[in-house]
Formats: sequence, C-alpha cells, structure tokens
Amino acid sequence: MRKINLLVIHCSATRADRTLTVFDLETDHRRRGFNGIGYHYYIRKDGTVHLTRPLESIGAHAKGFNANSIGICYEGGLDCEGHPADTRTEEQQTALRLLVHQLSQRFPDCRVCGHRDLSPDLNNNGEIEPEEWIKLCPCFDVTQWLAQTSAT
Ligand SMILES: [Zn+2]
Repeated sequence: MRKINLLVIHCSATRADRTLTVFDLETDHRRRGFNGIGYHYYIRKDGTVHLTRPLESIGAHAKGFNANSIGICYEGGLDCEGHPADTRTEEQQTALRLLVHQLSQRFPDCRVCGHRDLSPDLNNNGEIEPEEWIKLCPCFDVTQWLAQTSAT
C-alpha cells in the first residue's frame, strides 16, 4: 500500500437538478484521457458510496498531490443555475462523515482538506484535471464542516 497522508474532497460539478451516475462519471473521465475514474470514492445524492478506484492506485484528482492522497467526490456542487453551492444532501453528509472517519482511522496521519484548499499547481505540466475548471471545489469549507461534526 502506498503512503497516504491526505484526503481531498471534491464535488462533481453537477447541477442540483441533474444527476451524474458512476457510468457518466467514468465516461467523462475516460474521454479526458484518464484510465477510469480519477477519484477513489464517489458519493451519490442518496448517500451511496462507490469505490471507483482501488486505494492502492494513485488517483487523478488533485494536481501535485495525487501520489499520497485519496480523492473523494460527491455528486453535486452547483445550484440549479449552475453556480457553485454546497448541495450535499443529508445522506451525503452522513456518508462523507463516516467515510472520512473510517479513512482517518486507517491512515492516522491523514490531513483532510477540500480541493480548493490545495495551492494551485503552477508548473503547467499539461496534465488535464477533471475538475480543474471549478476553482471553488468542493463548494464548502471542509475544515469548518469537520469541526462542526466533531462537536456534535
Ligand atoms: Zn476538485
């Protein structure tokens, strides 16, 4: 198993009134030249957690941080007009909380952050990231949210 020290949370940049199945996500990522889905986990609106890439495999989700991280993506991130928004359902929040908790136990040295919390890659290496175009990803404050959840 590779060394894991970072969990990166993403949104799929899907509008709240639309759906994006695992098949859709995979089709999209393959079209962008990825060998399957770039994230390790994908959480649907109903809270279903899909393992979309083996944890042993390096993901393609956070430029410059893929080697030692796990990528988690939730379905959503845009409101009905296409503006960035925290569209997570209660089911998604519960599933995400549990998943982060489990992974933090398995990889105790892990830091948890949102994609937007990582400094941008400036070396312009030509690698196309699936969600590069949405700078606010995952459209909520991960640190603040985790602090809230641990307080309850
Ligand atoms: Zn992202």
